[in-house]
Amino acid sequence: MIQPLVYKFGGASIKDANAIKNIGALVKKRWTTGLVMVVSAAGDTTDRLEHLIDLALKQQSFDKELIQLLDYHEDICRGLFHPGHGVFARVDNQFAQLRRTLENLSLKADGDFFYDQVIGFGELISTRIIQEYLCELGCACLWQDARELVRTDSQTKMAKVDWALTMQYCRRALFPKLEKFPVVTQGFIGTDLLGNTTTLGREGSDFTAAIMGVSLGASSVTIWKDVAGILNGDPDIFPEAVKFEYLDFEEAAEMTYYGAKVIHPKTIKPLAKHGIPLYVKSFLNPDAAGTVIGSFGQAPRIPITIFKSKLTLIELRILDLSMIGGFHFELIYEVAKKMNWRIQLVQASAAHIAVLIDDMPSTEEQLARPFREVFKVKSKSGLKMITVKNPTVAERSHYRQVAEKLYLEQNGPELIQWVYEESSPEA
Ligand code: ASP
Ligand code: MG
Repeated sequence: MIQPLVYKFGGASIKDANAIKNIGALVKKRWTTGLVMVVSAAGDTTDRLEHLIDLALKQQSFDKELIQLLDYHEDICRGLFHPGHGVFARVDNQFAQLRRTLENLSLKADGDFFYDQVIGFGELISTRIIQEYLCELGCACLWQDARELVRTDSQTKMAKVDWALTMQYCRRALFPKLEKFPVVTQGFIGTDLLGNTTTLGREGSDFTAAIMGVSLGASSVTIWKDVAGILNGDPDIFPEAVKFEYLDFEEAAEMTYYGAKVIHPKTIKPLAKHGIPLYVKSFLNPDAAGTVIGSFGQAPRIPITIFKSKLTLIELRILDLSMIGGFHFELIYEVAKKMNWRIQLVQASAAHIAVLIDDMPSTEEQLARPFREVFKVKSKSGLKMITVKNPTVAERSHYRQVAEKLYLEQNGPELIQWVYEESSPEA
């Protein structure tokens, strides 16, 4: 039996005809049986689809924007195929379906459901183009609808994967195909039990690559990016940032949790569980080594700096002078679970608990309501956090100054975090 191998290509890697030619050459050079290519929407298509959805939901005309998006894709096709190639009809056909979906009034009753039915067209279209183009290059491959593989619950915009079903469908559908041809499929989308399209959350294609890798027992998963690999800081802010050759799963998972944007946070856990190495490599320099994330145990103690923004700090002060106990935490975690908070940090002292969460569209009053009997609540949104792992003395003093208007500080030998007001300069 063949051992599959997964490649993931994001929007930037296929943003125009030249970018796709580059990916074509990259893939052709590495052409092998068992290859599964997970592809996202071209360029900023998903953002543009979000805008179309917005217009449609507001009953405003989306004609101009839809035609611009069609033009963008036709432009790409003109740069890759001779006129009259079958791909033009395929893309037109997808756009006709997209238009019908956008016009379908009954779908609009539930905005988030409507979103899921529309947003995946970016991937459905881009994968058609990539598959046809690879065939043109002499790399015969098959187009696969990812919705036949990735099975989820019905939660809108952020569906949960049914792993048992997904593994079964992936193996059954893909193994026979992969014996003969590599496969091109979409990131980001799945189907629920009713057959409706679901999505895995923005930037979810990395996660799809991990799902495919785990389901098929792949030898590795490679995410092709426009950066050299994983660096110990954002290179736009730290020109001297260095690249990791190796990174342990645990360290990489922590980095994405603290806000590093190189890989989608959900990607690492399933791969770690199954011991499948994850390569992060540059599509601009594909022969360079990149970073490999795997089970390497002890991580190198290099300082790592990560910024995260759009955070809300909730400060809870106990009303009745009883000191903090299990009950207080229980209440907080209960509310957190019910409200789907993404908790970044919790800090407690005798009568005071601070909880830092990802920004949510709730008012101060809504945040405070469930706690009214027990805590006095204050909240502040629009905050930013710097996390420094393995900090040196120089880092400690440098960032302490950056985070001038400080709201919260966490300070340990291996990790420092500062939560501060968003408007402060970064470095
Ligand atoms: N196209 C989707 C997005 O931009 C999924 C992805 O690219 O990972 O969010
Ligand atoms: Mg994208």
